[in-house]
Amino acid sequence: MYQAIPLPYDYDALKPVIDKQTVNIHYNKHHQKYAENLNKYIQDYNIPLNQIPTRIDEFPIQDRGQILYNAGGVLNHDLYWQSLNNISSLPKGKLSKKINNDYGSFENFKQTFINKSKNLVGSGYTFLVTDDNGNLTIINLPNQETPLSYNLIPLFTIDLWEHSYYLKYQNERNKYIENIWNKTNFDYASTLYENLF
Ligand code: MN
Repeated sequence: MYQAIPLPYDYDALKPVIDKQTVNIHYNKHHQKYAENLNKYIQDYNIPLNQIPTRIDEFPIQDRGQILYNAGGVLNHDLYWQSLNNISSLPKGKLSKKINNDYGSFENFKQTFINKSKNLVGSGYTFLVTDDNGNLTIINLPNQETPLSYNLIPLFTIDLWEHSYYLKYQNERNKYIENIWNKTNFDYASTLYENLF
């Protein structure tokens, strides 16, 4: 059985940037549904969730589209919740050093990320990813595509699907894209990057 990670905080932890009802519906309805759907397709396989995207050819060809979509949905939301917290935190250690080296400052990195998010067309995510050599890139991917499919390791992400913000922000996606940086958490990304490189 594949499962969504437990929500790392209370439903109201991201207020006032994201309201309680949005977090509740997003986690309990949207995120859980991807896990539920994934489990409909995979009963007899013993493949870790984060290996599904690169081992997709081990599944029956007629199921691969749904398996990839729903595995991506679980993985991307797992990372999204871990990219946020009640109190915002900055990158640490090797990740902080690399960001400062590549972007000049965290502030410049943040602005580059925000601009990338604003450019996403349709539903998807902005990710901070690393390749096998520790090179960082900010990318947009549509729908529930995961960077793992491109042999990139996702470190941090912002969900840009309308269900992430619509109750509070309606059509004003750019406000969500900017405000969310008051709740961003780089502890997960920093630890992952520290352990990889
Ligand atoms: Mn979502």
